[in-house]
Amino acid sequence: MTQDHFHSIIIGAGPAGLSCARILAASGKRVLVCEKNKKIGPKICAGGVTSSGLNLAIPAQLLERQFPIQNVSSTFQATRLISNDAMVSTVNREKLGQWMATTTTKAGAQIITDATVQKISRSKIITSKGTFSFDFLIGADGSNSLVRRFLNIPSTKIGVGIQYHLPISMTEMVWHLDPKQFNTGYCWIFPQAQRTSVGAYCFRRDMPPKILKDRLHTWLKSLNIDYHGLKPEAANINFDYQGWKFNNIYLAGDAGGFASGLTGEGILPAIISGEEIAATILNPDHQPQRLNRLIKNHQRHTRLLLMSGKNRFGCQLIMESLILALKLKIIPFSALEMAH
Ligand SMILES: Cc1cc2nc3c(=O)[nH]c(=O)nc-3n(C[C@H](O)[C@H](O)[C@H](O)COP(=O)(O)OP(=O)(O)OC[C@H]3O[C@@H](n4cnc5c(N)ncnc54)[C@H](O)[C@@H]3O)c2cc1C
Repeated sequence: MTQDHFHSIIIGAGPAGLSCARILAASGKRVLVCEKNKKIGPKICAGGVTSSGLNLAIPAQLLERQFPIQNVSSTFQATRLISNDAMVSTVNREKLGQWMATTTTKAGAQIITDATVQKISRSKIITSKGTFSFDFLIGADGSNSLVRRFLNIPSTKIGVGIQYHLPISMTEMVWHLDPKQFNTGYCWIFPQAQRTSVGAYCFRRDMPPKILKDRLHTWLKSLNIDYHGLKPEAANINFDYQGWKFNNIYLAGDAGGFASGLTGEGILPAIISGEEIAATILNPDHQPQRLNRLIKNHQRHTRLLLMSGKNRFGCQLIMESLILALKLKIIPFSALEMAH
C-alpha cells in the first residue's frame, strides 16, 4: 500500500462529505476529503434546518435563530403556526462548515482544499493536488456531481433556489406559497443572527430561473423589502434520487439527489445520508433505518410535487388544502420535514 492509498476518499466537503468522513475516520480508517474550494463552508443556502433530527446533527451553539412560530401564506389564506419549541432554526453555512471540518479533522480525516477532482476511475481519482487511490469512493460533490456523471446516472429532477442576503436580522420566519407565481415552489424569509435570506425556490421544469427571479422581486416589492444593490445568488438542488450504493462507489447528499424536491431542504438529508453511508461501509450488515426513513419521505415529497405540478388548478387546490390542514392541525408541520 502506498502513501497515496486511502480506505475511503470523499469528494466534497459539504455537510454530506464531512459527516461521512468524520464517522469513517473515527473508526480508525484512513480517510481523505477533497474539496475544490479554498474555504470550507460557504454555500448558496438559506440555512434553514427543521427540528426532526436536528439535535443529533448540529449542536445548539451553531443555531443562529430558532423559530417556534412559522408564518405560512398563500394567495387566499395566511396562518401562524405556533409551537412550544422551534420548528425551524437557521445556521450560517460558513460557520457550520468550519465546525464540521474541525470535528472531522479531529476524528483523524485528512482534508485537502483547493483540490478539484478532475477524473475518476473505479480505484483512483486525479485531482489538481495529485492522484490518490481508494477502496471506497463517496461522491458528496453536490448537485453537479462528477461522481454521479462517472456512474452515468442522469439528473432530470432539479430544483432551483435564488436568494438575497439582507444585512439585517428580520423578526419572523415566512413561507409564501403562491401557485400562480411559483407553481409548487415558494418564497421565504429565513433570518439568521446578523442577516436574513430572502428567496424563492421552484422545480426547474416549471420556469426558467430568470422568471423565478422576476417573481421573487415582485413578492419582495409587495412587502417593501429593498434588495437593490444586493447580489442575487442562485444554485440548483438535485432531487433525482436513484440509489446510493454502486459497488464500491456511493452517492451522498445532493450528489445522490437526497434533497426534497418540494421544499429544497437538503442539509439534514446530506448529513443523514453521509452518516448512514459511513456506517454501511464500516459494517455491511448495518440496517440504515434513518436513511430508509429519509428515502420514504423523499418519495412522498416527490409524489406530492409531481401530482400537484400537473396543472395550475390542481396545484392551487393542493397547496391551499395543505395550508388549511396545517392551520387546523390535521397534519403537523413536521410532516413536511425530511428527517421526520
Ligand atoms: C438558494 C438555496 C437555498 C437553500 N436553502 C436551504 C435551506 O434553507 N435548508 C436546507 O436544508 N437546504 C437548503 N438548500 C439546499 C442545501 O444547500 C443543499 O441540499 C446542501 O448543501 C447539500 O449538501 P451536500 O453536502 O450534499 O452538497 P454541498 O453543500 O453542495 O457540498 C458539495 C461540496 O463538493 C465540492 N465539490 C463539487 N465538485 C467537486 C470536485 N469536482 N472536486 C472537489 N470538490 C468538489 C463543492 O465545492 C462543495 O463544497 C438550499 C439550496 C439553495 C440553492
